[in-house]
Order: sequence, then structure tokens, then C-alpha cells
Amino acid sequence: MADDLSLNPSTSMSITVSEVTVTQTFADASLIPADPVGGDAGEDNSHPVMVKWSGKEITVSTLSQSATILQLKEVLFEHTNVLPHRQKLTGAGKTLSDELALGSIFKRNQRIMMIGTPEETLTSFWDNQPDSGNVVNDFEVMADPEIPYAARVEYLEKISRHVRDYRMQIMSHFREGKKLLVLDIDYTIFDNGSVGQNGQELMRPYLHEFLQVAYRNFDIIIWSATSKRWIVAKLQELGITSNARAGHYKIAALLDDAAMIQIHRPEGPCTVKALGVIWGKFPQFSETNTIIVDDLRRNFLMNPKSGIRITQYRRAFENRDKDMELVKLAEYLEAIAEETDFTKLNHRKWERIAHEYRKKLKRLEKTLFRTPSSRDGGDQGSGSST
Ligand SMILES: [Mg+2]
Repeated sequence: MADDLSLNPSTSMSITVSEVTVTQTFADASLIPADPVGGDAGEDNSHPVMVKWSGKEITVSTLSQSATILQLKEVLFEHTNVLPHRQKLTGAGKTLSDELALGSIFKRNQRIMMIGTPEETLTSFWDNQPDSGNVVNDFEVMADPEIPYAARVEYLEKISRHVRDYRMQIMSHFREGKKLLVLDIDYTIFDNGSVGQNGQELMRPYLHEFLQVAYRNFDIIIWSATSKRWIVAKLQELGITSNARAGHYKIAALLDDAAMIQIHRPEGPCTVKALGVIWGKFPQFSETNTIIVDDLRRNFLMNPKSGIRITQYRRAFENRDKDMELVKLAEYLEAIAEETDFTKLNHRKWERIAHEYRKKLKRLEKTLFRTPSSRDGGDQGSGSST
């Protein structure tokens, strides 16, 4: 039921790669292999290379320009415990095959990238896997940290599979010309961590007013990292189902945990909401007209420009009279309603933009609704002369 808890605790034990930046220099006597493979250290034709791997920078200065990529991998194995056949080296704009000579492709001190998982990490990963039959590609687990998640082929393929296979629950038709709001449930509109008599007690304040305002310009999708059965139950408890039935707003579709994709961050795997799953099914929506609201920033990893992070709604019994997040968010949605390209916006500043919008409305209200006497600087008594 917990939206934001780790969905699959068994996989959370898998590969962890530290992001610490450490410079290892093999020129350091304590790190130089006693008998380095291909070692021509000290000769004039030595051909040092810098290897970036797992947040570390490793300088290999023991090989000659005629040494092969395979020999380089064998040296790297000594110090990373990543087997040569599990290493993927990239540099000079290409993947480097084993037989190439260092001197034929690199300048001296060229920086190259290595991807690969040490043996002991893989062993512990597999030991802790449930008997799921899932195949994990270790190149995927140790994906190149310099490529943004949203551009990685393995994740785009997962999205394509969901576009093809995932069955979204459609609740009402999408309206022409509307933008799209994708809304989380737990800790965004519902305090999932407190105990109440009913959903109303745990509902974030102003939820229905917020949905009513949002619905003017946005079709609304609910996406929660739990099963569809729980999503439907929560929407009923929160009164969203009955309000939608009454026509105050509509929910266009529901997405559950099965629509999420797993990605691998240096600190471990996690599942995230990739908007491409929706965009693939409904091409009228894209990053130009979609926003996703969630209390977890990781859910924006595949769509960093589309996410609006909202503070978590917790301790409903203390906060129900104070929490104004949905009021501010409604103001923000109104403020950006006319924007034709959301990629031009910086949603991280959403609260400030909402605040400016509120001030503008107040100024307008003052101008439009002030009385003739106040506009004239005080024409007292004129009203009583008639
Ligand atoms: Mg949440």
C-alpha cells in the first residue's frame, strides 16, 4: 500500500556504487602491480591513460603504446576486480575492442570511461535476488554516469515495452486542447502514514478545490506506486470518485506501480514514473504540455523538466488547518495555464511564481473593484446626495 516505500525490498540490496571521488594513481608504488601485464614502465614509449570508473579516476602509466585494450583491461582488473570481459571501455568517441593498440587510438594521458561491476558485488547481488528469473545486464546496472537517465537506451526500451503492453485504466475521455497534470497520491494528496477514521481525515486540505481549478485547463491522471485496487480504494475514501461522478471534475486515467520502470542510480535501484509511458500512448501530450506533481524528486529522473515537487503531507491531525500547498499549487497551475511550452518554465520556482501570480490578482482586484470615491481620492458625501 505504501506508495513511497521501496517497492521491491529484495532488489534494494543490489549493487551500490559509491559516488565518492577518489583519485587512484597507479604510478604510486603501492598500487603498481608487481608484474603488470604488458608492463613497459619506464620506457620512452610508455602510453599513460586516465580511466574514469565508478566516481574514481585511475591513471594507468605502466603500458606501452603497442599494448592492447585487452592488456589495459587486465591491468584494470587488478585494481577494480572487474573481470576484463565485464569491462566496457569507451573513449575517443567509440567502444574500444580488445585487439586495438593504445597508441593507435589514444593520445598520451587520454581520458576514457570504464563501465563494469566488480565480481564480489555481482555475487552478492545474485545471492540476494529472489527467484524471479529476471535477467539484469551488468552494463545497465553500471550505466555510464555521464549519460542522463532520460537518454539511456535501456530505459527508453523499458518505456517502449510499457507503451506496448501496459494497460492504463481510462476513466473519462481526454479533452481537446487541454494540458496534462499527473498527480501522485501518497503524501502528495493523502497522509498515508497516519491513522484516521476515514479518508477525509487524512486528505490534504483543499484537495477537491484544487482538482476543480486544475480541471479547467488540465486533464488529470492519477499515478501511484501501488496496485490499482488500492488506488481505486483511496480515490473512493478521499471522495474523488464521488466528486468526479457529480461532475465537479474528471479523472482521465489511473496508472499503478506496474507502469513504473526500474532505473539504477549509483546509490541503488529504484522505480520511477516515466512520462514517456503516457506520451507513447497519447501523442497529444509531451513535455511541452505535461506536469507531474509528486513528493519524491526521484520520480522526475526520467523527466527532469516536467516535475513539480510538493512537500510531503504528513501528520494530518496537526497540519490539516495549516497546510496550504494545494492552494499554492492551484495558483501555479492557473499562472502557467496559457504557456504553450512548459519546457521554458523552471518548475523549481513554482512557489515563487504562484506567489507573484497571487499578488498580481490582488492588484487587479484592487484596481477593478475599488469604489468611485476611493478612485477620486475621497469624494465623501457624494453618495448620500441622491
Ligand atoms: Mg508520494
